Amino acid sequence: MQDDYKAAIQLVSQWIADYQDTVESYPVLSQVKPGKVLSQLPLQPHRTSESFEKIFTDFKSIIVPGITHWQHPQFFGYFPANSSPPSVLAEMLIASMGVQGMSWATSPAATELEIRVMEWLRDLFDIPSQFTGVIQDSASSSTTIAMIVAREKITDFYINENGYMNHQLVAYCSEEAHSSVEKAAKIIGLGRKNLRKVPVNEQQEMDVSILDQFIQEDIQSGKKPFFITGVFGTTSSTAVDPLKGISVLAKKYQLWFHVDAAYAGAALMLPEMRVLADGINEADSIVINPHKWLFTTFDCSTFFIRDKEALVRTFSLLPEYLKTPEGDSVTNFRDWGLGLGRRFRSLKLWFVIRWYGIDGLQKKLRTHIEMSQKLESWIHEHPHFEVAAQRHFNLVCFRLKASDAINMQLMQTLNESGHLFLTHTKLNGKVVLRMVVGQTDVQERHIEDAWLRIGKIGEILIQNIG
Ligand code: PLP
Repeated sequence: MQDDYKAAIQLVSQWIADYQDTVESYPVLSQVKPGKVLSQLPLQPHRTSESFEKIFTDFKSIIVPGITHWQHPQFFGYFPANSSPPSVLAEMLIASMGVQGMSWATSPAATELEIRVMEWLRDLFDIPSQFTGVIQDSASSSTTIAMIVAREKITDFYINENGYMNHQLVAYCSEEAHSSVEKAAKIIGLGRKNLRKVPVNEQQEMDVSILDQFIQEDIQSGKKPFFITGVFGTTSSTAVDPLKGISVLAKKYQLWFHVDAAYAGAALMLPEMRVLADGINEADSIVINPHKWLFTTFDCSTFFIRDKEALVRTFSLLPEYLKTPEGDSVTNFRDWGLGLGRRFRSLKLWFVIRWYGIDGLQKKLRTHIEMSQKLESWIHEHPHFEVAAQRHFNLVCFRLKASDAINMQLMQTLNESGHLFLTHTKLNGKVVLRMVVGQTDVQERHIEDAWLRIGKIGEILIQNIG
């Protein structure tokens, strides 16, 4: 058995190394039709053991064709969920040890490495030292956690004890904030209607004067404003809310100020980008996802909170079976979030930060931003295309100067080709294509190739209209 395992590890690690070299040869978007994978899977599992060779052969022939290759350098859609060699190596080690780091005692290294790595990241992101960091699975969880802690703090921990009693709480975010904020409002029992969405200007930034007006209206009608999310890099266009203005209102009305920097927060590592984040230091909590633009395999979301005591008070419970001799003289991260069990995610961050070094990480981010600047300039120069949103980071929003339907057709044709993958959104009522230059190994030749293909199909579509 042991020898079989060793042989299987060789096979898998060879495949992993080859995948890194050959990922460009796969179609970016999986080409399988709905139901194709399912039709190749037996209705019942085998009663007897199967050889790993057989399992692995099926993995290659059934599963891989049904994979959309998020690590393909021409995956330009959504936001990347980028991986990297050090992160993959860490995942292999994490899986092999099967660490569950809920308490300090269940793996002291998992807890203590997380403490140190989160201090490193806090400083790298230039977040004030009053903040403490903890790793969560996703930005959605981080935002939910922030909303729950804020709710408890404002009600003096009443709802944790008694449940809701005709609550009057109300929260705010912009119309462009990610759907995870609304989901959090549903999950925590606030109710979607008690999350007010503040209109944005043409650059998709929250209108702070309307926020002020909403808060005043709510106070006058007996409601209790308690939470505001400002976004540093919206999902549609990476717009940045006026964090400074929001922080002033948050102070004035005593609201918890949460900053969703899930994607663009990685850019806080670049001193030249800090100017965009004026006001972030006034936040109560901040979320940044290394599993998006910091080369750390999904999942890994870093959550920074100013009032760590309120967080722990909100979530801690200590049944007999979880008591350990160290008690609360050590950090027990099980008390810092939704789940009890915790993956050993800090190992990935540790490997990634050491493998690239701060200089290497900054260089990669800057290269991505520079390439997206280039792409933007090509779009500006093209007679049939237009840039559709202000670019702050490495997302370029653009459109063919034609109808929404033609733009959707352009995107669909490109995606079906398998050569590249884009996604779309709507800005100011119009369909816009999004191209994020953020893959770990994306190079200039990839954006050149993509732009050539986009231009060619765009021109054919325009000619067909004419
Ligand atoms: N916030 C923003 C701004 C996002 O763009 C996203 C996802 O793209 C999220 C939150 C949700 O991230 P997660 O998948 O980690 O929950």
